[in-house]
Amino acid sequence: MLQINNLVVEIDGKRILNGLDLSVKAGEVAAIMGPNGSGKSTLSYVIAGKEDYEVLDGEIVLDGQNLLEMDPHERAAHGVFLAFQYPLEIPGVATMTFLKSVMNAQRKARGEEELTTPDFMRRVKKAAERLHIDQEMLKRALNVGFSGGEKKRMEILQMALLEPRFCILDETDSGLDIDALRVVAEGVNALRDPKRAFLVITHYQRLLNHIVPDSVHVMANGRIVRSGGKELALELEASGYAEYKEEAA
Ligand code: ADP
Ligand code: MG
Ligand code: MG
Repeated sequence: MLQINNLVVEIDGKRILNGLDLSVKAGEVAAIMGPNGSGKSTLSYVIAGKEDYEVLDGEIVLDGQNLLEMDPHERAAHGVFLAFQYPLEIPGVATMTFLKSVMNAQRKARGEEELTTPDFMRRVKKAAERLHIDQEMLKRALNVGFSGGEKKRMEILQMALLEPRFCILDETDSGLDIDALRVVAEGVNALRDPKRAFLVITHYQRLLNHIVPDSVHVMANGRIVRSGGKELALELEASGYAEYKEEAA
């Protein structure tokens, strides 16, 4: 479903991704682990189409189409979803209003009609129930005063409403607290689907205690240096990344 071939990326003249290859099948949850600075977040930004990165070589093909030829909005319309590492706080904008505008922007990009308010409300209610999200939260201003766990709930709800094909979740290096971790894991597990794939990026193994991945890939110095099954995550937790740093160097 997603196929990355020989991806070479620089930022400000500095090479970050160095001939990266990766493939993810439909229905799969793929985990990417690796030392700090290995390029994990860069990979997620480049897939989503964030500017500032210079792609020097390679391709990123999703469902037969090269994402590198699309702008970020087209990629989102094509089904790419990147969970925000640092969610926006928008005082004065109710979470509901924000969600509706995000959904309608996606529909517009796909050439679909805007959702009516009753249709939107129905979808939100259904998704919130599925994810055990209290709808009272949606009346508050977006992310303002939300706890870490509540922000993650919002992200997961957004993901559910947009029904993406390919979801990227990047756990920040600072890590999530236990509540937020559980929210993310439950959300991903609830949204697992044979037609959808996930790229779960994490520095630590602990998120993978809650989301059991189908495949685990180790990233070092801007490329995937080892791939395996879920047992690879446990092995890494025990041995650390030292051998991969040396190998890559
Ligand atoms: P990870 O998520 O694995 O910790 P990143 O993708 O954040 O790694 O960073 C990979 C490397 O790219 C690091 O050495 C980092 O300092 C560098 N880098 C990231 N963003 C920039 C930037 N905007 N300008 C210069 N270097 C950057
Ligand atoms: Mg980092
Ligand atoms: Mg990172």
